[in-house]
Amino acid sequence: MAKILCVLYPDPETGYPPLYPRDDIPTITRYANGQTAPTPKGPLGFKPGELVGCVSGELGLRGYLEKLGHELIVTSNKDGPNSEFERHLPDAEVVISQPFWPAYLTKERIAKAKKLKLAVTAGIGSDHVDLDAAARAHVTVAEVTGSNSISVAEHAVMMVLSLVRNYLPSHGIATYGGWNIADCAARSYDIEGMHFGAIGAGRIGLAVLRRLKPFDLHLHYSDPHRLSPQIEKELDLTFHPDAESLVGAVDIIDVHMPLYPSTEHFFDDRMFAKMKRGAYLINTARGKLFERDAVVRALASGRIAGYAGDVWFPQPAPADHPWRTMPFNGMTPHISGSSLSAQARYAAGTLEILQSHFGATPIREEYLIVAGGALAGTGAQSYKLT
Ligand code: NDP
Repeated sequence: MAKILCVLYPDPETGYPPLYPRDDIPTITRYANGQTAPTPKGPLGFKPGELVGCVSGELGLRGYLEKLGHELIVTSNKDGPNSEFERHLPDAEVVISQPFWPAYLTKERIAKAKKLKLAVTAGIGSDHVDLDAAARAHVTVAEVTGSNSISVAEHAVMMVLSLVRNYLPSHGIATYGGWNIADCAARSYDIEGMHFGAIGAGRIGLAVLRRLKPFDLHLHYSDPHRLSPQIEKELDLTFHPDAESLVGAVDIIDVHMPLYPSTEHFFDDRMFAKMKRGAYLINTARGKLFERDAVVRALASGRIAGYAGDVWFPQPAPADHPWRTMPFNGMTPHISGSSLSAQARYAAGTLEILQSHFGATPIREEYLIVAGGALAGTGAQSYKLT
């Protein structure tokens, strides 16, 4: 019998289950790159469209795991030495966590987790796991690659429009009884004709570029691996060999590169100094890619015109985190990849990974980040060890 330790975000403050505004969600069976959506065997343990990413939702896993005789612990209490997470960690064979509410698997915690064999990210982005330490301890790390790429891409597109058109302040004026059109319009532009640059043109970055094409922007990107000539032609893309050359050429900068040790604080005062005055920044990748106070300084000085995103460090962000209150921000808690539509896929993908683990069958290559003591699968393409 194995112990599965699952860390999920807390239930809604209004109680669980919520009253759902809709009765169903579209069924997505395949992603843009041809990869199939998760295909677990047998019943799912939830109805797609239900809130399963929070503690009471349990990713719908309890029935499957208990039928096999395993023990499932679900908690949101994840930080500090007295947390429920630390208490159960020494006995856990499997840890499941989410980027939205990450249970940071540091090297110290991995050293304590003597029975740990598998760390699953119910979502995408396994930077909350010390991948070097996981590789050394021969812990397999897997994530549900592709499960929420479009969810994040849609969120990024929403943030591009809401920042440039000054949507949030204008909505605030309407909500609080105002009607000063000039106050709304004084920072509102069209995106048509602007230059837009994606840093990282993988699953999410490319999906954003495709979605913005009909808006008649000039599209740019930088990525260590160049896209195919067909895609560059189809989207009329300008390629930049590095992020430095891109940031000075565009009006809107959209970040979709992974966080690993050498990309930490990639965006600092030096990078902001290279940007056009009044550039907009969107970051749905990871908070630590940006130096926290450099963002605040760039907004306060007018070097950039707006910053929006849903990723912070640490998570949850403390109540006094300056990104909550800095001017011209469009921040949300980390929600872009946890829409109800995304949850249906990452919960099904988590079940599929567990079925492989307990059935002793190979985990899909595209879900692997670390296996056999080294980066593997998607991890070998997207991450670097120190
Ligand atoms: P992919 O691996 O498909 O794409 C990432 C791209 O970034 C790859 O093409 C990679 O290049 C490129 N890249 C790596 N290093 C650099 C660099 N230094 N400069 C420019 N580009 C670089 O990942 P996804 O698109 O699926 O996800 C991207 C990130 O988004 C994830 O790492 C995760 O942190 C975040 N994410 C956030 C979510 C949210 O809810 N907000 C949900 C899902 C993901 P190559 O592989 O060619 O070397």
